[in-house]
Amino acid sequence: MNLEIKKRILEKIREYGTVVICRHKRPDGDAIGSTYGFSRILRQTYPEKRIFLDNEDYSEYLAFMGGEGDKPTDEDYKNALVIVLDTGTTSRISSSRYALGREIVKIDHHIDEAPYGDISWVEEERSSTCEMIVDFYKTFKDELKIDRYAASCLYVGMVTDSGRFRFRGTSAETLRSAAILFEQGIDTEKIYANLYMDDFETLRFEAAMTEKIERTENGVAHLYIDRQTRLDSGMSLEDASALVSLMEKIKGSLIWLAFIENDDDSIRVRLRSRFVEVQQLASRYHGGGHACAAGATVYSREEADALLREADALLGEYKANNEGWL
Ligand code: AMP
Repeated sequence: MNLEIKKRILEKIREYGTVVICRHKRPDGDAIGSTYGFSRILRQTYPEKRIFLDNEDYSEYLAFMGGEGDKPTDEDYKNALVIVLDTGTTSRISSSRYALGREIVKIDHHIDEAPYGDISWVEEERSSTCEMIVDFYKTFKDELKIDRYAASCLYVGMVTDSGRFRFRGTSAETLRSAAILFEQGIDTEKIYANLYMDDFETLRFEAAMTEKIERTENGVAHLYIDRQTRLDSGMSLEDASALVSLMEKIKGSLIWLAFIENDDDSIRVRLRSRFVEVQQLASRYHGGGHACAAGATVYSREEADALLREADALLGEYKANNEGWL
């Protein structure tokens, strides 16, 4: 699929001596995995090129994957090809300098609401950007070199963004791509331990927060974590945000939302769903993302309540018009 676009991207990479790779803010496994995996493939393949990663925020829970290395200077950017991975809109790019580059390539699987880049390769049906990078590798495997580290990074992105191969984007192609990574000898036991083990304090916090989960009339599960509660518990914003997953197993709650008060006056909203789509709802509240996994921001409890009411109406309508949901 999209062979011509992939060929153009490879040609651009061949043409440039400097490549800068960026991703989205508040990085998840796919953002980190795709940038680390792709940069490793390029470094292995083209040792003469200068390959940089440039991003301005990090996620502690993914620190086990390593660091980003030296940053490019503004001068480096001037002659660079900038490749932005896993990022739907320019406002979400984690490098404020990305536009300094000479040309920009976008590779992404989010809904393409605000296209950008001199070359754009977007496949919304892909379960992860990492899967697209594996596809890129497969397409040009006579030229590109992968190794165990690159494969491990790409696997982290595939496994996290597909919910361990459960979400609807998971396809036969996803599993074939994962098989290619297995062939590099990745240590899945270690990867899963790094990704899914919690410390005892987090478990206790989860138990306390589980008590606070509520449901709307039509079954939207929601959890509000105010700043004081988070600070008192000693949990980071990242840990608190991860608690959206506490609600994913509730039967009949096909939409679940976590509201997490940030350190400024904004409130992060994480929207998740099965069967019914929540991306458009998120985009009405300064957000976006995927059909069933999206993010948004609200600026007051009133706005949070308004979003919740809309989610409730959406779920009510879905249940009235569909059967067989769980
Ligand atoms: P999150 O709940 O923050 O993990 O977001 C879920 C998905 O939506 C991820 O793929 C994010 O990259 C994407 N996303 C989150 N916030 C936004 C936003 N404001 N605009 C576009 N996409 C977003």
